[in-house]
Amino acid sequence: METVFSGIQPSGEMHLGNYLGAVRNWVALQDQYRCFFCVVDYHAITQDYERDALSRQTLEMATDLIACGIDPERSVVFVQSSVAEHTELCWILDTVTPFGELGRMTQFKDKSAKQADNINAGLFSYPVLQTADIILYKASLVPVGADQVQHLELAREIVRRFNKRWGDYFPEPQALLSSTPRILGLDGQAKMSKSLGNTIALGEADEPIRKRLATAATDPQRVRRKDPGDPEVCNLHTLHTFFSDEERLEWVRSGCRTADIGCFECKSALADNLIAHLQVIRERRAELQAQPGRIEEILREGARKAREVARQTIDEVRDHIGLWG
Ligand code: SF4
Repeated sequence: METVFSGIQPSGEMHLGNYLGAVRNWVALQDQYRCFFCVVDYHAITQDYERDALSRQTLEMATDLIACGIDPERSVVFVQSSVAEHTELCWILDTVTPFGELGRMTQFKDKSAKQADNINAGLFSYPVLQTADIILYKASLVPVGADQVQHLELAREIVRRFNKRWGDYFPEPQALLSSTPRILGLDGQAKMSKSLGNTIALGEADEPIRKRLATAATDPQRVRRKDPGDPEVCNLHTLHTFFSDEERLEWVRSGCRTADIGCFECKSALADNLIAHLQVIRERRAELQAQPGRIEEILREGARKAREVARQTIDEVRDHIGLWG
C-alpha cells in the first residue's frame, strides 16, 4: 500500500476552505492508502502567532479532523512537534538544498511581504521542513493544491540531490492532484481564508451561515432578478456541487440560466444543504468534546506510531550519510 502524507496548519477551528479543499479528500484517501495526517505547528511558528492560542488551536484542528471523518484507527494523526525527527531530518536536508531555490519560492516572497518585520530563517527553509515531513514516512503521494505544487517540485529536487549525493534512499514524492474545483471565498475574489474573513467556520451556527451566504458574491452579470445568470461563473454554484444532489443541481443550473429562480432562493437552498451536512460533523465534534482527554490520547497514540516509522528512517539516514553512533 502506498503512503500518503499531508499536513494542516493549526489555525483553530476548521473552515469550509480547509474542508472542501483538503480534508474531505483526505477522508476518501484513507480507503486506498496508508495515511499520515499531521497538524503542522512547527510550520505555524514561522509566522506571527499568539503564544497562548497555539496549543488550543492545535487541539481544535485535530478535533475537527476527526469530526470530519479522519479515522485514527486507519490513519496516523499527530502533531508535528511531537515527533522531533521532523526537524532532525530537516537539518540534514538543509545541507543538500540549494539556497537560491528557497529564495525563489513564491510563498516565501508572499509571506515575507506580509510580515516584513519578521522575515525569519524558518520562513525561508519552510519548504525543507515540508520535504522532511513527507519523506520521513517515505510517502510517495502528497495531496496538494495548486498553491503547493512549487513546494512539491522543490521537495522532489531535494530528494534527487540527496539520492545523488548519498545513494538512492528516498522515493521521489508525487503530487496527488485532486479534481476539486477551485473554491473562492464568499467575496468571489480570493481563495477561501480565515484571515480574509471570506469563509464559514464548520462550527458556525445556522443563522450566521445563512446571513453569510445571503451576502455572498454571485454571477456579477446577474444584476436584477429577471436577468439570466451563468452558474459556471458563480461560486455559489460551485458550492452547490459539494452539498446538493443532482436534482437540486439541475434546478440551480436551469433556473439560473432562465431566471426562473432568484439568487435568494438559490442561496437559501444551499444554506439548507450545507447546514444539514455540517450537522453531522458538529455532532461528532460534540461527542469528542464530551470526552475530556480523548483528542490528546488520539494525538499521543498517533505520535507514538509516527515516531516508530520516523526513528527508523532517521537511524538509516544517519548511517547512510556517515554520522557517528
Ligand atoms: Fe449564482 Fe444561484 Fe444566483 Fe445563479 S441563481 S447567479 S448560481 S446564486
